[in-house]
Parts: sequence; C-alpha cells; structure tokens
Amino acid sequence: MATKKMKEQAHKVLKDVFGYDSFRPLQEDIVCTLLESKDAFVLMPTGGGKSLCYQIPAIIREGTGIVVSPLISLMKDQVDALNVCGVKAAYYNSSLKATAAKEVLERFEAGELDMLYVAPERLLSKSFLQKLGQVKLSMFAIDEAHCVSQWGHDFRPEYVRLGELRDMFPDVPMLALTATADEHTREDITERLGLKKARCFVASFDRPNIRYLVAEKRQPLTQILQFLEGWPNASGVIYCLSRKRVEDLAVNLQRHGIRAAAYHAGMPGRTREKVQEDFLRDRVKVIVATIAFGMGVDKPNVRFVIHHDLPKSIESYYQETGRAGRDGLESEALLLYGSGDVNLVRRLIENVENVDQRRVEVHKLNSMIGFSEALTCRRRVLLGYFGEALDKPCGNCDICLDPPSTYDATELAQLALNAVRELKGEHGMGYVVDVLRGSTNARIRENKHDKLKSHGAGADINADEWTSILRQLVHHGYFIQDVSRRAAMRPTKKAERIGTGEPIILAKYQPGIRRQFRRLGTPRDEALFKKLVELRQQLADKEDLPPHVIFSDVTLTELSQSKPGSDAEMLKISGISQHKLEHYGEVFLEVIEAHAKSAAASSEQVDGKDIPKLIAKGPGANETQTYTLSLYRKGLSVPEIAAQQGVSETTILKHFVALVRAGQYIDVPGYIGDDFDTVMAELDDADPYASLSEIKRDLSVELDNETFRLVMAWREAIGVA
Ligand code: ADP
Ligand code: ZN
Repeated sequence: MATKKMKEQAHKVLKDVFGYDSFRPLQEDIVCTLLESKDAFVLMPTGGGKSLCYQIPAIIREGTGIVVSPLISLMKDQVDALNVCGVKAAYYNSSLKATAAKEVLERFEAGELDMLYVAPERLLSKSFLQKLGQVKLSMFAIDEAHCVSQWGHDFRPEYVRLGELRDMFPDVPMLALTATADEHTREDITERLGLKKARCFVASFDRPNIRYLVAEKRQPLTQILQFLEGWPNASGVIYCLSRKRVEDLAVNLQRHGIRAAAYHAGMPGRTREKVQEDFLRDRVKVIVATIAFGMGVDKPNVRFVIHHDLPKSIESYYQETGRAGRDGLESEALLLYGSGDVNLVRRLIENVENVDQRRVEVHKLNSMIGFSEALTCRRRVLLGYFGEALDKPCGNCDICLDPPSTYDATELAQLALNAVRELKGEHGMGYVVDVLRGSTNARIRENKHDKLKSHGAGADINADEWTSILRQLVHHGYFIQDVSRRAAMRPTKKAERIGTGEPIILAKYQPGIRRQFRRLGTPRDEALFKKLVELRQQLADKEDLPPHVIFSDVTLTELSQSKPGSDAEMLKISGISQHKLEHYGEVFLEVIEAHAKSAAASSEQVDGKDIPKLIAKGPGANETQTYTLSLYRKGLSVPEIAAQQGVSETTILKHFVALVRAGQYIDVPGYIGDDFDTVMAELDDADPYASLSEIKRDLSVELDNETFRLVMAWREAIGVA
C-alpha cells in the first residue's frame, strides 16, 4: 500500500524538481507502485506524461535508475531537460565519444547518478551487465516497450533480451511503458519482459486538447496556407503519402514565406538529422513529411498536424495526430479528405499479395473512411475504434462545433435492419446498400437476393446517402462490421431496439464536408508571450539546448497571463522549480516588468476615457498615417480628414486599416455603428476556408472593401481572428 509519506515525497519532487503542482491521471499511483518496489506496466497515450512516472521514483529511491530507450536522439533531450532541472542524469549510447563514455561510466560506478539512459544493446553487453551488478540500482524503466513485441509496429531484436533483466535482478522493480494500445502487443510485452505480476495501468487514450477537423480536399495548398494563417509562428507537421508530394509541398510553402522543410526516408541520414534538430530548436516551423517522421521527435509544442493525404488506418492517424499538443495546450489535427486518395490507397492495397493481410488492410481503410465521413463526434468514432467509450460528444471536433442537421431515421434504420437480417449477416456494407437500392447486379442475381423482401425497399434514397446512414448506425452501435468476415454487417444487441419506440436520430447527409471553427484562444498577452519566446530562444541558443527544455510553452503562456512580479509569484507558475528560478528567473522577470511598463505607457486616455489596447499585427504607422491619426483624435470625421488632406475617403480608410494594424486605437465599432455586432457575429461563424471575398459576400450587411478590411484588422487587433 502506498503510504501517505510516499505520496508526500512524490508531490514534493513533482513541485521542487519539475515545478508542477499536480499529477496527471495515474502518474501518482504509478510512482507509488515503484516506490513500493513493485513492477508496473503502463499504457498511456503520447503526451500522457510517461516520463515522470519513472523519473520521480528514480530520484526518490536510493541508487541509479536505468532507463532503456531505443531512440538515441531522444536520450540527449531527456537528459538535457533533467540536468536543467538539477537532476543528475546521463546517457550511455553509441553517439558518445570514447572519453565522454568513459566519464559517464565512472560517474555511474561511483553511484553519482540518479538516472542513466542506456541503449538496449549497450545495456546487455557483458561488461555493462557486470557493472550493473556492482552498482546500487533503484529501478529499470523500459520505454517504448512495444519494441519487444513482434506484434508491434516497431519490433527491435535487441529488445528481446531485456527479459533477462527480470531474472538477473529480481529485487529491482521494473516499469514498462508504451503508447501502443493493441491487446496482442500488450500481452506479448508482459510475457517477454517477465512482468506477469506487474500492476497494469491503462490510461484513457483521449487527447482532449487536440481538436479534430476534417475538410473536403479541394485545393490542398490553398487550404493549408489558410489553415497556417491561423497558427502564425507555431510548429507543426504535415504528412503526405509520397516523397514527391512532400518535396513539392515543402517548396511551395517556402515560396509563401513559411519556414518549412521536407523530411522523408529517401533523404540522406545527415540531412534528416539536421531537419529534426532545426525543428526541435524552432528554426524550422513546419515539417512536411512522409510517415517516416515522428518516432524520434519528442517536441512538446507541436501545435498542429495536417494530413494532406488519407492515412491508411485509424491507428496511423491516431499516432500521427498524437504528435500534436503533448504539452496539453490547445492543438489541431486537420485531415484533408478526398475521394481520389481513397481510390489511390485502394489500388495500393490491391497489390498486397497475401489475401488475409489484404482483407485486414481493406477493413482498416474502411474504418478510416468511416471516421472521415462520420457525422457523429469524431472523437467518439476515434476512441470507439480503440474500444473506449465517450459518454458525451466531445465539443472539440468539427462535428461538435458545427453539428450537421438531424432527422428521425427510425424507418430507414428498420429497413437496414431487415436487409441485414435477411442477408444473415454475411455481406458488407456496399452489398447491403445494393440490395436496399434494388440493384440487379450479377452477384445479387447469383445469390438470388433480388428475391428478398428488402430488395429495392430503399430505392428512393441514393447510394451515398444509404452508405452514410449505415455508417452512422454502425457508429451508434446498432451494427458491427465483422473484420474476420470481410467486414460483413451484423446487427448488435442494441439493434433489437430499432422500431420499439425510441426514435433513431441521424445526421442529414451532406455531400462535401462543412466545417466551421472558432479558435478558443488562450487569453494570454500575445505581445508579452512573443517577447518571452524570443528570450527563451536566445537563452537556448546560448546554452545549446532545445528551447522547450528551458521553459515549455505552457510555462510561457502562464507567465504571459499572470505576469508575476516576484520570485515567490514565479514559483507558482507550472514548470518553474526553485532550480530553474535560480537560473532563469531574473531575466524573465526583467522582460515581464519592462513589458508592463511599456504597456502602461502606451495605454492612452482619450476624452478622459480609457481606450482598449490593440495588439499590433503590422508595421508601425508611417507619417501620413500618423497625421490622419492626429486629425482623427481631434474629432474630425472621415470626410473631414479626407478634405483636409486633399485625398479620397477610401485613402483615409486605408490609413485607418494600417493604424489599427499598427496597434493604434480607432473606434471601429463606433464607425460601423448599429450593424457592428451583427457583422462580428457573422464573421465569428464564417467558414475559415472561404476566401475573404466569399466571406464578405455572405455578410448580411453590405460593406465596401475598405470598411470590410478595417473590420478584419480590428478583429485581429483585439485578438479574435
Ligand atoms: P509521453 O512520454 O507520455 O509522451 P511526456 O512524459 O513527454 O509524455 O510528457 C508530455 C508533457 O507533459 C511534457 O512536456 C511534460 O513535462 C508534461 N507533463 C507531464 N506530467 C505533467 C504534470 N503532472 N503536470 C504538468 N505537466 C506535465
Ligand atoms: Zn466531438
């Protein structure tokens, strides 16, 4: 049993070393299990916070904790991050030069280390095992434990022998961690590592801070550029299916001034390493990659993941989107969904020789299509696929944010159920649709299914719409698609309820995918946040560290929200420990203080009333614009200012736009008048993928171009766009 004392110790280290106030789900229990010298098996999604689960016990327990990880590039980052927190950690792998390696071993043997990260092949060398026997060990942590299993997607032969550790060191507790959920792999891991008695911790696979968005793929480059406008300066990854697409897109983005780089398996190892490093250090913002990118990259502040092409399974989609938002801050996953891609992937699958494997891949693809075309909460579909239920719609996906309209589809569900029953649960969705539509194709005639009662019972509804209805009924749990039998549709127990009185409400089928979104936006002081990011970058460059190792985006966000003025206030911020405060506190406090002063100086009073401070989004105002501002401040109207300068009113409005963009206050709501609120509300709801002229055209209030631009500038300046 975890004692109160253990919990207190764990919390103290969490706060003192890492600067965090509370544990994430399961972390505390896992830490305590190790403190009790028991084995544990942890299944947690990417970003769930697995590292702390072994770092904290390794710090608390006497001796050195051994962390086994296959990803050499990540070891250095983790060790850097720990050292910055004042933890005595080191790594031992093939990237170290001989002298450095020797030094690490000496420190290890002298018992100086809290933690040693080791690559598996090094760990299991004879000489190293001997050393292990002589040093006091606090625990073993096996990260990426799925590598031990041939079932997993990343089997590494050198992992198999890790099972020997359990026999060699029966008293040292062992922790295995993975983000790979599937049942087979899980059993295989515990078996092979000798962890049959381990306590098993399975976290929810939901990543609530990732917003799932699906858009119909129209003009991908334009759509991506528009999407990126919503994430200025943010880091993200764009996945494409082929190397050629990767290269083309990267070049196109660069042409549009975006700091993008390509990444795929065909590039030389050196170049790839450099791209990763530049991304980690915020020198490159957007990586355009094939799926080869990801495993070795542990960047907490990836704000978006875009799928330019359809992923081949929900597993890959989940894993790839999971690289966004590890730090827990709001992030987005956008999938561009086009029917052309579906056909492309289908053709690829047709080339798979093995029949069983082909069947599995077809099913996986169909599930992915189901997700993309879902009219129910995306998160529900996603988690449902992994066997996890969500009690209510998530509120953070395109469907939840812009629900499609619904109708009572009970009668149609009844028709579907009849057909599936008549077909004895032996046929897939496409076939069921054909029967309902009354098709007389060869297969149906051969099977004599044109004689069924259901044949043609739903002929007045087109095939796409039927498919949509059946998919929704699957998502709602009335039917399942049996993978082992070519995804044949079967009624579930719940299907018995069809037609017994409770209405079945489905979403109306809409060809194409509508979406709408409103950035929730963290209410932080963007100008200050930017200054803090710059400071962090300078410090990181000086110390040759990835910026997030110094302070995470979460920490910078909190700093720019609460603007602490003292050490004590600094310590209350998530991610600031005493150790980090001593290193970085002063410089950050200086910047925050200087910012407060300059903000106070620029907050103005006009006619005795306070005016809101606008966020500068463009360059400073030029001379003529400043002159316009001075006339405006004297109370002159637009026609008057225009007359005074001998220019048109349009020109003055142009000045206003530039002034607002420079962060200068113009009373735009007052200028627009009564229609202002209507316009703002309609713009809030505008389709983000529509062009500006489309958005303008759809407004119920007619605005001339310049006035429209002024409103848009205002929205940016007050931080809603
Ligand atoms: P995983 O290895 O499961 O992908 P990490 O261990 O890298 O996840 O943690 C993801 C991020 O969450 C890191 O930036 C980490 O510092 C942060 N984090 C983990 N646990 C906590 C916590 N209890 N409070 C605040 N932040 C945390
Ligand atoms: Zn949702």
